[in-house]
Amino acid sequence: MRKISLLTIFLLLVCVSQAQEYRAKNGMPGPGYWQNKPSYNIKADFNTQDGVITASESVTYTNNSPQTLTEIVFNLYENYKEQSPFEIRSIRQGKKPVPEFKIEGTKMTAKLKKPLASGASVTLNIDYTFRFLQSNSSHNRSGKYEGSYFVGYWYPQIAVYDDNGWDMVNHTGTEEFYYELADYDVDIKTHDNYYVYASVPTADGTIPDYKANADNNWHFVANGFFDFSFAASKDMKVTKDVVPSASGEVQLVIMSRDGNFIKDTREPAKSFIRGIQPIFSKIAFPYKQIVLFDNGRQSGGMEFPGMVNLGIRWMDDESSQFVVCHELAHQYAPFVAGFNQAREGFMDEGFAMLLPYLVKGRDVIHSKSNYVDFCYMEMMGPTGELDESVNYTEGVVFTPSYSFASSRDYNSISYHKSFLALYMMREVLGADKFGNMINDFFAAWAGKHPKAEDFLNAVRTAYGDNLDWFINPWYYQPKRPDLSIAECGQKDGKYFVKVRNDNGIPVPVKLIVGNKFKEDDCGFRFCNDKHFYFTPEVWKSGDEFFTIEFDELEFPFFVRLGCDEIPDQTYNSLLEFKSEEDFGPIVEKK
Ligand SMILES: [Zn+2]
Repeated sequence: MRKISLLTIFLLLVCVSQAQEYRAKNGMPGPGYWQNKPSYNIKADFNTQDGVITASESVTYTNNSPQTLTEIVFNLYENYKEQSPFEIRSIRQGKKPVPEFKIEGTKMTAKLKKPLASGASVTLNIDYTFRFLQSNSSHNRSGKYEGSYFVGYWYPQIAVYDDNGWDMVNHTGTEEFYYELADYDVDIKTHDNYYVYASVPTADGTIPDYKANADNNWHFVANGFFDFSFAASKDMKVTKDVVPSASGEVQLVIMSRDGNFIKDTREPAKSFIRGIQPIFSKIAFPYKQIVLFDNGRQSGGMEFPGMVNLGIRWMDDESSQFVVCHELAHQYAPFVAGFNQAREGFMDEGFAMLLPYLVKGRDVIHSKSNYVDFCYMEMMGPTGELDESVNYTEGVVFTPSYSFASSRDYNSISYHKSFLALYMMREVLGADKFGNMINDFFAAWAGKHPKAEDFLNAVRTAYGDNLDWFINPWYYQPKRPDLSIAECGQKDGKYFVKVRNDNGIPVPVKLIVGNKFKEDDCGFRFCNDKHFYFTPEVWKSGDEFFTIEFDELEFPFFVRLGCDEIPDQTYNSLLEFKSEEDFGPIVEKK
């Protein structure tokens, strides 16, 4: 009896811990996953002349967490600027003001009259004003541009409360955001014949047509969105295209006065929307409408749900097209899988770098150099040499987005090193297994909040074996990949090349040996050549060296390590062996 009761207790404990498991060990949401839910009802009067939004927001917040909440935290993201664009006039719970609210940095905390129990809801009413401040900063992600507006981060937005509690990261302007999935019912009244495009189709499901709307009232309903933004203009040209999608049509809207902008964005956007769908075959394309807004600046691009604010006019055509693909890729990360960009920006940026590659292949950006090589150079620094200004002791992918020393470091690591890690992971798993894994992961986490560790657990599960040899160096160590040829020699009637992994970061080994016969603009041409390719798994044992053997070749012969699709500091090393006297350890010139 005693044995049975102990077993029963053990099984009960297992059941309880599984029931409470928020994130499953296989990287998927656990059976105990929960998410709190805001529903916004916003009525806004937009004085387009002065750039002032006067609004009342009623937000009902449902506490699905197991905890009781005593306060609600809001993001006022634009408060990172010297002058606050927000004026909060009142916060009421019912008819009476909340007992207390305070604004610190970009967070606003409202104390509740009585604690909000698990499963209960509360409605808060906020009267506020949002002002567009004059700013020429190229880092602005939204703002007023030559009389037109891209309106983002414009309402008090409830912060995410997850298994870590309230997200209290104070926004500094560099890192990005962490959004809660919410329902929106938004009325916008404009003046002076400003028309509006927003994150969603209008409430009745139609796409807005500004000519037909004489009273300048715009009503939008967006359920299950991570954010709500809109663009307002009275004179920008609107170009519309319909792109087929598995779940119906996607309307592509381009707002621009510039013919070149329309030319540079239209076809790349259409082909990306078409091309991304088979990659995420288990997820319907997330929006009925995608709006590309031309802000005419040099701001790059910023993603919003169903919208992109683009400042690409100074760029060459290829770079503009790449930025369009990158921002559209963000519609999946973070707007399908709601990663926390404020802490783990490397997840959505890594995917926003990877997805254009998966859609378009190696020529996605510069036809002259391949994309992997381009990303490797960007990771290293502008010259492709190790950039001393990049603090590589902090060059760890798992660095909180808000703690990089400079935007250069942030760019190097969160975008490019993170991309290379995903790209190398695909080499380890194989393209098919990797493709299925990301499809399943994004489908399981759609509308939810995965962490980077969840993703890595999904990768571990798909791989089916210990993957620490790959994950630790790529995600947790500051170093860069660097292979070199350590030795070439002869043993037991065979030649061998010994490759050294100088920093222990696993990358594939590609080796060509042969008799060179020509050198031209395209590089080196071999004859009698043998090609060897090994996935990063050759470094699984943790050994510093990997040896490749091959049959005798006539002297002189050449050995070339690496290629432009393998990130490696010393790729392209070409060594010549005139006779056996050249054999032995090799000291590489760096
Ligand atoms: Zn991005």
